[in-house]
Amino acid sequence: MYRLDEDTIINEQDLENWRRTHYSFQINPSQINQTIIIMGWISSKRDHGNVLFIQLRDKFGDTQVVVKKKGNNLENEIFDVLKNLKEHSSIGIKGKVVEQKKSSTSVEIVPEEIKVLSVSTKSAPFLTQAISNIGIDTRLELRALDLRRDYLQNIFKIRFTILNSIREFLISNYFIEVHTPKMIATATEGGAALFPIFYYDKEAFLAQSPQLYKEQLTMAFENVFEIAPIFRAEPSRTNRHLSEAISIDVEKAFVNYHDVMKLLDELVAYIILKIKEKNQTELNNLELELPDIQIPFPRYSYSELVDKLQKNHKYIRWGDDISPKILKDIVGDSFYYIVDWPLSTKPFYVKPKNYSDIIGLPPNSTTTTTTTTTISNENQKDKESESNRIVSESFDLMYGTLELSSGSTRLNNKNILLDNMKKKGLNHAAFDYHLRVFDYGVPPHAGFGLGLERFIMALLKIENIRDATFYPRDIDRLTP
Ligand code: ATP
Ligand code: MG
Repeated sequence: MYRLDEDTIINEQDLENWRRTHYSFQINPSQINQTIIIMGWISSKRDHGNVLFIQLRDKFGDTQVVVKKKGNNLENEIFDVLKNLKEHSSIGIKGKVVEQKKSSTSVEIVPEEIKVLSVSTKSAPFLTQAISNIGIDTRLELRALDLRRDYLQNIFKIRFTILNSIREFLISNYFIEVHTPKMIATATEGGAALFPIFYYDKEAFLAQSPQLYKEQLTMAFENVFEIAPIFRAEPSRTNRHLSEAISIDVEKAFVNYHDVMKLLDELVAYIILKIKEKNQTELNNLELELPDIQIPFPRYSYSELVDKLQKNHKYIRWGDDISPKILKDIVGDSFYYIVDWPLSTKPFYVKPKNYSDIIGLPPNSTTTTTTTTTISNENQKDKESESNRIVSESFDLMYGTLELSSGSTRLNNKNILLDNMKKKGLNHAAFDYHLRVFDYGVPPHAGFGLGLERFIMALLKIENIRDATFYPRDIDRLTP
């Protein structure tokens, strides 16, 4: 029982044997004069004195309900209850379908009986103002309510299409879906950015990527993919990093990075096709047109980009990571690849472009020489070290300045793997569980990890990655 004010008490009722007979999209003029049961929450109310218009929302949209204050007591009672209920209250309505030319479905519902299932006792704090004035933190505090908003409903319906079409596409290309452990003993990339956890009496970590497991699985299943969380203790607050993100990880046997780039091209094209097919309504609501893409996406080599960038940014050296910000001047606002990254910027499992490039070279030769003397000296050094520049069979898929995916051909030769680990200062022993499978014929393989939220951000022009996930986790946020 809820006392809304001095005189108004509203009783919440049980569902009992009431069940919805129609979702909003199933209601049409063929049911005129039938009595149906609809359920949902009040999305809006218009009070015209003795007539009340209510939009009852369910997962597919709104149904118009109209109640008049006249006639018998029962109608008056329904009128009073609905008039007093706040938006977002959950109700069930048993009512007659009647013709209404002005409604988008050409019908509306006149209630004969209602059940108040859950009263909204408060006015939603952020729904009464223009949403653009509300900080995302305020919205996240009440995320489930926030997710009822049209904007996010559209995004998450498209997200669902993206996930389904990824599965469709990969399965039809002979991949199987796998799941790998999220509690692990050692870091995949051997770096920081891990979340330590207690694992019984040992220290363990949340997996920052399924990398080594998906590589191992190519040995048994050849082509595998996983859609699952990755955990990264990102120290900075940005609009494109989450501490827990969904990664679409793909790994394929007997191919190299060119083949998986082609696969990724086709995957992106397929997803866009499917969204256009299934989500035109949502795209219209978001006032978005998806890009008309042409595959293969352009491929720029890391070295060519660095050459271009050096014209305006003299401090950039071959071997540095490329900051997205400075890329702005030279890339368009669409998909493209940066390929052939310096081996030194990539994790130990990434294959050098030419084995002979590294076999026989002295230790540390995989890193570019850096000096701090004058620019002309440095240029000189750069030229000298050009022959030492070791490139990897790797790529990043970008959208404008946003990185969407990283991929590469992986090393499948144990000796080179060991050598690479040594150069990167990694402890072999900690990776023994992984290295030992390389004694048993791991096939050549290549793959990539595509960030789901990043991809959604790019396609749907979302400013903040937090709106591409249900309950974002970041350095400041562990609830809700
Ligand atoms: P960045 O340099 O943008 O932080 P990264 O190179 O560290 O990304 P990778 O290890 O290459 O990321 O991971 C593969 C993909 O997973 C990235 O291209 C990105 O789409 C996604 N990803 C990685 N880290 C995050 C994160 N913290 N939040 C959201 N997505 C992420
Ligand atoms: Mg990357």
